[in-house]
Amino acid sequence: MDESGEVQGVMEDEIDRSKPVEVLKGYDRENLTIATLGSHSALNILRGAKDEGFKTVCICREREKIIYESFGVADELIEIEDYGDLLKKGLQDELIEKNAIIVPHGSFNAYIGSLNDLYVPVFGNRKLMLWETVREKQREWLLRAGLKLPKTFESPEDIDRLVIVKYPGARGGMGYFLASSPQDFYEKAERMVKEGLIDEEDVKKAHIQEYIVGANIYFTFFYSPVLDRIELIAADRRYESSVDGIGRIPAREQMKAEISPTYTVIGNFPVVLRESLLAKALKAAKSVVDVSKEIAYPGMVGPFCLETVFDENAEMFVFEISARIVAGSNVGVPYSIYSYVLFGEPMYAGRRIAREVRLAAKKDMLEELIY
Ligand code: AMP
Ligand code: AMP
Repeated sequence: MDESGEVQGVMEDEIDRSKPVEVLKGYDRENLTIATLGSHSALNILRGAKDEGFKTVCICREREKIIYESFGVADELIEIEDYGDLLKKGLQDELIEKNAIIVPHGSFNAYIGSLNDLYVPVFGNRKLMLWETVREKQREWLLRAGLKLPKTFESPEDIDRLVIVKYPGARGGMGYFLASSPQDFYEKAERMVKEGLIDEEDVKKAHIQEYIVGANIYFTFFYSPVLDRIELIAADRRYESSVDGIGRIPAREQMKAEISPTYTVIGNFPVVLRESLLAKALKAAKSVVDVSKEIAYPGMVGPFCLETVFDENAEMFVFEISARIVAGSNVGVPYSIYSYVLFGEPMYAGRRIAREVRLAAKKDMLEELIY
């Protein structure tokens, strides 16, 4: 993938949906299976599928098998050596035999790359999932939606304030660092390379963004093509190593140890937002969905996440968008305040996806969920 918009040789408008749609036409709609890769938010997705009455398949590596065996939410476990094996014809054909719909999550972006090679029907809009893997494209999408974004810096030489340094793709904060001047950037980058946290290539491709001091909130929304509405499903914040551990060390020891915090995500906490601030989040979600229809027809399908920081004036900055389920939504199982208020029953991202499939199957709209 590069920042010009090319993702592993596939331009985002080249995704071919004719094959999965053809496959879907042959499915027994009374007998669908929900399948996903065993990682990220698979427990959420599989539990949700079972709650909605679907059969479930978890495709996982040996090293994570213990997770999916322990929780028993997969009717069947298919073991693979590598996530990329999902693209193999034998496995795809096996899934088609089971009338499977694949629910993608963060590991699909991080470890598989081209979703275009999947002819098993995939829930959601794969074009938008490619947009989200290229930071420049994300930025264009969010700016077109009229949202406030942190400033970005083209070159380390331009750094004139506190910035956060990130890399392309979904890496869960691994190797991110803070810098406040060009010199600071080069020194820290060199140290991080020496420590093996990042490599030279990462430094060249670094995405340098103004650091907004404030409260982080990650919103999981759902756009339902069947009901034509946007729903707020859950909100969370992250628990990150080492940045969240630094506050536990007294300032004197911090200074002596010269710790540079990084942002590797370890877990998430649920968040309930001050109610009046919900207006900003809901308006942002609407604009993002409106723009999604212009950039990747038919636009958003299913879960998406806005990553935001609210500054001291409660101004909302959006610094990332994900066009699929995010792992932060795991905090919303079996419900968050928002999904409970909306549905009056346990509802969470994984279950909401399965509910949409069920509703669409009933109304003969399944094809509208597969792009
Ligand atoms: P994993 O299966 O844990 O390796 O996760 C797959 C991808 O999703 C990686 O890029 C992770 O950094 C990211 N990821 C996993 N869990 C979370 C989380 N709780 N919050 C944010 N990102 C995550
Ligand atoms: P990301 O991988 O972009 O979701 O970011 C990982 C971590 O960096 C999270 O803790 C974010 O809160 C933090 N972060 C990312 N961008 C910014 C920003 N522009 N200002 C402040 N914090 C940020």
